[in-house]
Formats: sequence, C-alpha cells, structure tokens
Amino acid sequence: MTHRTRFAPSPTGHLHIGGARTALFSWLYARKHGGTFILRIEDTDLERSTVESVNAILEGMTWLGLEYDEGPFYQTHRFDRYREVMEQLLKEGHAYRCYCTKEELDELRAGQMERKEKPRYDGRCRHRSEPRPGVLPVIRFRNPTEGEVAWDDLVRGRIAFQNSELDDLIIARSDGTPTYNFTVVVDDLDMKISHVIRGDDHVNNTPRQINILKALGVEPPRYGHVPMILGADGARLSKRHGAVSVMQYRDEGYLPEALLNYLVRLGWSHGDQEIFSVDEMIEYFDANAINHSAATFNPDKLLWLNHHYLMHSDPAHVAHHLRWHLGRLDIDPTEGPDPVDVVVAQRERCKTLVEMAQASRFFYRDFDDYDPKSAQKYLTAASVPALEALRRHLAVVQSWEKESLHTVLVATGEEMGLKLGAVAQPLRVAVAGTAVSPPMDVTLHLLGQLRTLNRIDRALQYIEAKKD
Ligand code: GLU
Repeated sequence: MTHRTRFAPSPTGHLHIGGARTALFSWLYARKHGGTFILRIEDTDLERSTVESVNAILEGMTWLGLEYDEGPFYQTHRFDRYREVMEQLLKEGHAYRCYCTKEELDELRAGQMERKEKPRYDGRCRHRSEPRPGVLPVIRFRNPTEGEVAWDDLVRGRIAFQNSELDDLIIARSDGTPTYNFTVVVDDLDMKISHVIRGDDHVNNTPRQINILKALGVEPPRYGHVPMILGADGARLSKRHGAVSVMQYRDEGYLPEALLNYLVRLGWSHGDQEIFSVDEMIEYFDANAINHSAATFNPDKLLWLNHHYLMHSDPAHVAHHLRWHLGRLDIDPTEGPDPVDVVVAQRERCKTLVEMAQASRFFYRDFDDYDPKSAQKYLTAASVPALEALRRHLAVVQSWEKESLHTVLVATGEEMGLKLGAVAQPLRVAVAGTAVSPPMDVTLHLLGQLRTLNRIDRALQYIEAKKD
C-alpha cells in the first residue's frame, strides 16, 4: 500500500505548536512507510486567510525541516473541481438544493429547542424540486438516515456515529462556494490520501466526510485523531501559556531539533526514551502508540531538551543557528571568533541560543557599560596592580593560545602573591563587562590579543576616572 499523508492548515495565523505536532506526526507516518507527505493550504475562508499566514506556515515547516513532497496545493485554486464534484452529487441524487429561508430555519430550530430536541435540519427540501423565487439555494448532502458510520481510528480505535444523529450538511453556500467538509473530501480523494492524521477537534467531521466519500463511491482513507495539547492549568494551550507559535520558539533561541523532539514526545512514547534523533523518530514512530488523552505542554522540559541539543549537536550545526541570533543583535559574526568555537565555549552555561548570543556579544563588539555589580566589586583601585601586570605580560605573548594564556595568568598570580581568582575576576570584568564568562584562557583566546589589551586599558581608565 502506498502511504500518502497530508497536513492541511487553514492559513489564519501562525504555525502553532498543535499544528506543528500534527504536521510532524503526518510527516513521520509518511517517512516511516516510504510514502508521500503533502501540504495543502485550506484557504477557502477568504475573510480570514492571509498571504502572511501562508508564508508563516511555510517558514515554520522549513525551519522544522518538515519537507513536503507535493504541494503546497491551494484550495482556492480548485473551485472548478469542487463545482464538478458538486454537480455529480446533485445529478446522482446524493445532494439537493435547499430553498429554506432563514426565517423558516429559525422557526424549525425554535420548535426543536422548545421540545428539547437537538437542533438539526429536518430534510424538508429533500423532496422539494421547485425553486423558490428570490431564494438563492444552498446545497445539502443527503446523509443516510439509517445505520451507523464507523471507522477504526489509528489513535483511538473504533469510533461509531449513528446516521440518525447527523443531519443534511450544507456543502455549498448560497453564493456557490463549497464548505469545509466538502472541500476536504474532494481533496483527500483527488490527492489519494491514504491516512488522515489530524487534531481530534475534527472527530465530529469524520462521519460526515466518510458518508460523502461513500456517496462518491470511494473507500475513505484511514483516520487518526490526535488529542489536543493543554497548558499546565488544564486549559487548551493558548497564548496565555506563553509562546504558541513555532517561529516564536526560533526567536527565543530554540533549535528546531529540540522542538521536534519535544513535539514528538508530546502524546507519543517509545518505552522510556526521551531523546530522539529524527532518524529514530522515523524508525520508531507508530500511530497506535499515540496517547488517547490530552497532552500537557511543559516548557521546562522543552528548555531541558534545548540545552541537551546545544550540548550534544555538532557545534558547526549549532553555530549555523547562533550566527542568525548574532545577526539579530546586529553583530557581524565575521568580526570576531569563529562561532563554532564560541558554541563550544558557551554551550554548557547557555540554555538557549538567545542567551548564547547575548553572552557572546562581547567577543564581537565593545560593550557600552560594565555590569554595575561586577564593576563595583572588581574594577577597583585594588585591582590596578594585577591588571597592569597582566597588561604587561599579555602584550608580549607570542602565541595567543589557551595554554600560553593560562601560563601567563598563573605566573601573574604568583608574581603578585594572589590567588588565580583574584587575578582572573578583575580581568574577566575588564574584557567581558561582567563576572560571568567561559574560563579565562578560553575567553582571552577567543577575544584575541588586540581586543584584550584595549579592554584592559579601558578598565584601567574606568578605575582611574572613578577615583575623581
Ligand atoms: N484545515 C483544518 C484545520 O486547520 C484541517 C483539516 C483536516 O486536517 O482535515 O483545522
């Protein structure tokens, strides 16, 4: 069997965490089975769909590395095809024009409410063949009235609905535009989708879609409905819980593989394993192992994973992302050390790329101000002799390597009768502006000789000026 899955977002906002997880599961399913992953943009809601949102979705998919094999297909380009299938359903009696007026429908609903019945269309136009002057009809699907419609859900097992619970769905509005459930059916059919993996907010649409597909004489695809994502307070994940858009995670300094790893574990597991490379995800992914209940979003775990990936990924790969973050701080990464070396020096103490970029700024650009507390503690008259001695020794270092720099630091401490820390901390504040940086020999090596000497001079001037 060929496996063809799709991700079918409505472009009305960003690519959010829930959508990205659905996309990831569909993508994994296709990749695992050597199948095809299709991107379809469901943009028929002309008022809410925007080009910006389409771009945001494409950008998010690209950043996450969820490459699609076909598409993007836009529903707005397919209206002729929807019309064609609509005509077929009308001709074959599976659909009919409904001339009910708004008043008539309101009255029907009011009566049902009064009798405490579920509001539903009663099918009164099923047999009405005469158009009504002045009324533009909608088109309704003639839903079977008896029996049940059931499917074996990839995630949740068997799900069944009684046809008597379903009314005759509007598949085209009075202006002729097709509605959501109809376009999805035609697309899934034409795109030969074999497995529909989507959020469980669509469970109620599935029996309707299956009935339409059956009316068209085709076998429905397999469906898998993924439970929703909740915030820590048990409410559906929303902006209130922090970042929900994928690109916001990029902006906040997450690596795409950390987010993917986090998303794959959100509602899916493979034994106790927490860390999954993309290849492992593909190898182990199994839709049957997706949890039936909602998953809770845990930002601390995502942060932990991000730190894991910063620590263990190829530094050259991390540097690729760090350059982008340096750029956002207006730093040209060619005006300082190779970001690959910076990653190695900083990754232990930085949990995000934003932290890493901020903590590495001083390698590339002079800082404006010292951290006030660090300056108060270490840039004092008492530090001047050590700083002057360091200035002298560092000025004559021939090979600006970690080992020789370490030797200078130790020798200066001995010469001054000071512990290494008493020499290193003033130097650190002088060169980095704060009392936190990678080990001093590493810091100096990355900073380079000229910058180091200039910064010591600047610190000495600062101390001098403070005296006045
Ligand atoms: N466009 C729908 C949505 O964004 C998804 C439809 C589907 O997956 O069938 O919720």
